[in-house]
Amino acid sequence: MIDLFSDTQTRPTAGMRAAMAAAEVGDEQSDSDPTTLALCARVAGLLGFEAGVFMPSGTMCNLVSVLVQTRPGDEIVVDDQSHIYNTEAAGSAAIAGVSVAALKTPAGVYTPEAFEAAIRPTGRTAPRSALVSIEQTTSFSGGSVWALADMRRIRDIAHGRGLKAHIDGARLLNAVAATGISAQDYAEGFDSAWIDLSKGLGCPVGAVLCGSQTFITEAWRWKYRLGGAMRQSGILAAAGLYALDHHIDQLGRDNANAGLLRDRIADAPGLAIDAGAAQSNILCFSVEPLGVTAADFAKACLADAVRVRAIGAYQIRATTHLEVDAADILRAATVIRAEAERLSAKRG
Ligand SMILES: *Cc1c(COP(=O)(O)O)cnc(C)c1O
Repeated sequence: MIDLFSDTQTRPTAGMRAAMAAAEVGDEQSDSDPTTLALCARVAGLLGFEAGVFMPSGTMCNLVSVLVQTRPGDEIVVDDQSHIYNTEAAGSAAIAGVSVAALKTPAGVYTPEAFEAAIRPTGRTAPRSALVSIEQTTSFSGGSVWALADMRRIRDIAHGRGLKAHIDGARLLNAVAATGISAQDYAEGFDSAWIDLSKGLGCPVGAVLCGSQTFITEAWRWKYRLGGAMRQSGILAAAGLYALDHHIDQLGRDNANAGLLRDRIADAPGLAIDAGAAQSNILCFSVEPLGVTAADFAKACLADAVRVRAIGAYQIRATTHLEVDAADILRAATVIRAEAERLSAKRG
């Protein structure tokens, strides 16, 4: 099967498993797991921050960033297709007690003007706008890559108005691969940012959240409180170090493969694909013109051993990763095209 459901479907490679087995370990909770410490220092350096903390998941990175940088009753600003808003079980509302201003966007990328307009007036009645989050790259809206200039304007507007600025960088390194702009440049001046190890980097578990030393001290308190502190986490951190050594180049290939898929199905009948689609390793398209739901379309592809993901009524998402190569993409494109052609012929 060619699995384009998500880049979370990657399994640890033999090399990664060997690195995990050989990891030097200690107790993470008391800062004595050397491999975890090495991973945190490495990612903090990569993103240009003072410090980092190893987390069990990206979801916990987002939640802890909200917890540290808001108070209950505050408001955070995100895009309406963001992971924080849609697929974290409302953790920021349930646990951090914040409300969410979700900005309407065509592809997960809002303008600095729209952000500025969403900041609440100061006063007794409105929630206090406390934090803005940028998802680089966007997940459910098709892997869009934010322009560096817009990120910086949003960061500066945030700071000028007393908000903190956060990067949900689950796939930040895919943006780096797409543009050649360094992770440090993207994250410069932001208050918190993180990368996921369990997406395109191919690790089984984990993410690293970065910020100032003061931020990380507070993040640690929340990690502990939420039950995220670990013991011999070096087994997992070793996978992260291995990925940073061996899987970064793969992200460029993943991005290219998403583009290849787009090019191969762009003119298939009844598929609505945005011109700017597949800026990184995710391709979203609509099957609405075919008169079929995304769930049914995905099911038909699965019958031909190609797994894509239905996200919403008519939207399909295909994500590339290290377990699919260009030959797989060509085959997936053939299956998707054939299904589009079949449905289109049926409609007449
Ligand atoms: C996957 C993802 C997350 C959550 O990360 P997990 O490691 O799955 O908890 C957050 N934000 C974005 C944009 C993601 O793609």
